Amino acid sequence: MAFALTIAKLEEAMRQPGCPVCRISRAAAERGIDAFLWENVNDIPTRQPIIDAYGFCGEHTRLLVAIEMSNSGPVLGVNIIYEHLGRLVSGELKRASWSQKVGGWLRRAASRSLLTPKKRCPACVTVEETARNQLAVLFEELEAEHEAMSSAYRGSDGLCLDHLRQGLEGFAGQYPRGAAWLVEETTLRLERQSECMREYIRKNNWEYRAEKITPEEAAAWRKTLTFFTGLPGERFTFTKEEF
Ligand SMILES: [Zn+2]
Ligand SMILES: [Zn+2]
Repeated sequence: MAFALTIAKLEEAMRQPGCPVCRISRAAAERGIDAFLWENVNDIPTRQPIIDAYGFCGEHTRLLVAIEMSNSGPVLGVNIIYEHLGRLVSGELKRASWSQKVGGWLRRAASRSLLTPKKRCPACVTVEETARNQLAVLFEELEAEHEAMSSAYRGSDGLCLDHLRQGLEGFAGQYPRGAAWLVEETTLRLERQSECMREYIRKNNWEYRAEKITPEEAAAWRKTLTFFTGLPGERFTFTKEEF
């Protein structure tokens, strides 16, 4: 039986836009980085997974900087972690070049997995673990036919494609009724959205210009993009994110 608090958190995320599992797992990564910055930057064993991964991935490095910059003055945590990493990599490069004769050392060193990360971005790992736990709760609740969960789900943007697939792969065996419910709900939802999108396309034709596009038809593409990406519909705008 899932904890009531976890269920409440999942239902709360369903009242927000975008995939609820994406939302909760992103928040978990944020909390993890925040806690790390406050408590564990100088703790070598806690820092080790970050070191083993050669730092966070691009997205989570930006998150690390954003959290530190919004919390305090100097970017001390970033400096501590990435000074360590820079020193580590230059040391590895130096050892590789010393241990090989000039000419061909890079090739040979590459075959000995020079600069290959030993671990994945720890924040990405947190995201995946959290998502897995949330999916387990969702499938369990739907299997038990708990009305609160199914009606919260119906009112939400639903799972994104990745999380639906992960949920079905991981939990359909254990919770077949929950899985069947989700499959049916997603099928209906996507068909309804496609119908609206076909109408949107049709009404944009000159011949049918007198017919008004309904708000549901105008919004359907956003809902479909949410399914394919997990992102809230309003995130799709004319703004292009800079490199
Ligand atoms: Zn998702
Ligand atoms: Zn990451």
